[in-house]
Amino acid sequence: SPRIGVLAVQGDVREHVAALRDLGAEATTVRRPEEVESIDGLVIPGGESTVMDKLVRAFDLQEPLKRRLAEGMPAYGSCAGMIMLADRIADARPDQQTLGGLDITVRRNAFGRQVDSFEQDLDYVGLEGTVHAVFIRAPWVEEAGECVEVLARVSEGPAAGRIVAVRQGSIMATSFHPEVVGGDRRIHAEFVKIVSQHRR
Ligand code: GLN
Repeated sequence: SPRIGVLAVQGDVREHVAALRDLGAEATTVRRPEEVESIDGLVIPGGESTVMDKLVRAFDLQEPLKRRLAEGMPAYGSCAGMIMLADRIADARPDQQTLGGLDITVRRNAFGRQVDSFEQDLDYVGLEGTVHAVFIRAPWVEEAGECVEVLARVSEGPAAGRIVAVRQGSIMATSFHPEVVGGDRRIHAEFVKIVSQHRR
């Protein structure tokens, strides 16, 4: 089974490890530069992207992670993880950097204070029925390049139509947190499939 690393400097690491293990994948935490070399794919959890970025740089993880992503290592980011995988942030904090990989511009905390956190059932390309999406101070994708496939959009409310799940090659990202929804591992399963196919 593929060996999938979960970036473990900050955020909801355990939930992603549990989701991957439910699927029979080998999940391991990544905190040190050496650990970046031995994984077949990377999950970047939800959390706080400004803090995650600082810690990634402080732990000397930025260079090896960027290099492996540039070499084609599959990656999946949820929420703050989506921000870390975005090439551009619309409203970046001064000095905030990302790893990049996705030709998207994200807007942090895009849904506004009033709707800090909310849940919605969404259509998701390639999956039957709907996905229960939990948004927590989530970003949305404000612009996506031509090579980016849009997998899901907000279904209702003032933000209806906003892009909240994307894929570009072996990299995918969701604004929401499938790892906190027990009993539905389909989005992690999509990623495990990408990693397995990439490995062959
Ligand atoms: N608002 C957070 C950020 O900007 C993301 C929130 C989350 O990951 N739940 O990084």
